[in-house]
Amino acid sequence: MKVLVAVKRVIDYNVKIRVKADRSDVDLTNVKMAMNPFCEIAVEEAVRLKEKGVATEVVAVTVGPKSAQEQLRTALALGADRAIHIETDERVDSLAVAKLLKQVIDEEQPQLTILGKQAIDTDNNQTGQMLAALTGLSQGTFASKLEVQDDKLAVTREIDGGLQRLELTLPAIVTTDLRLNEPRYAKLPDIMKAKKKPLETKSPEDLGVDIASKVSLLQVETPAERKGGIKVGSVDELVDKLKNEAKVIS
Ligand code: AMP
Repeated sequence: MKVLVAVKRVIDYNVKIRVKADRSDVDLTNVKMAMNPFCEIAVEEAVRLKEKGVATEVVAVTVGPKSAQEQLRTALALGADRAIHIETDERVDSLAVAKLLKQVIDEEQPQLTILGKQAIDTDNNQTGQMLAALTGLSQGTFASKLEVQDDKLAVTREIDGGLQRLELTLPAIVTTDLRLNEPRYAKLPDIMKAKKKPLETKSPEDLGVDIASKVSLLQVETPAERKGGIKVGSVDELVDKLKNEAKVIS
C-alpha cells in the first residue's frame, strides 16, 4: 500500500508572530520555519504503517518555495521513501493546494493520503476536505486512531462529546488530530541518509493547475494587547467591579 503525506512549511510554533510594518502580511524575515505539527503527525503515522508492514512506500509532498525542500528532507529523515516538491513562490490558497494534490494522487495512485487537520499559520482546516471533494475519495477528518484491514480503513475521530468510529473504503483521505501519535525526532544518521533519498521537483504548470487565487489578503493586524487581570478580595468586591467598572451587570 502506497501512502502519500502532504507536509507544509510554516512558522515554527515557538516563534512569536510579527506583522510587517505596512501590515501587508506576517513578517517572515529571519524567522525560524518548521514542518507544520499536524503534518509531523501525518508523517509519523505513515512511517508507523510502513514499520508494521501495512504500507510499502511513503511519499511526502509539499507545495511551496525552494526552501520548503527542508521540510521534505525532514520527512525523508523521519522515514519517508521519496519526496515530491511542487515549487512555487506564489501564495497558494487551500483550493490551489488541493487541486495540485489531486493531480499528484491521479499520478501516484496512493491507497491512503494523510494530511494535517490544519496548518498552524493560516488555521484554514480545509485542504483535506477539499481534496476529498475533488477526488471523490472517502474522507476521515480529525483522526485520533487508524486501523487498516484489507481494503478498509477504520478511523476514530474526535468529535464534540466523544469519539466517532468510521469505516472507509480505500483509497481514502485522512486528516490527523493531535492525539493520533507522538512524532519521533529525526536521528542524525537518518538526516544524513535523507540527503540521498529521491526528491522530484515539479511546477504547478507541469501538473496543469492554475494556482491563481480568488482570495486577496487585504491586511494583517496583531491582536489587541491583553491587560493583566486582578484578584478581588470578596464576592461583594467582585460584584461591585462587575457593576461599576466592567459595567457588565446592573
Ligand atoms: P489547511 O487546510 O491549510 O489548514 O492545511 C491542512 C493540511 O493540508 C496541512 O496540514 C497539510 O497536510 C496540507 N497542506 C496545506 N497547505 C499545504 C502545502 N502548501 N503543501 C503541502 N501540504 C499542504
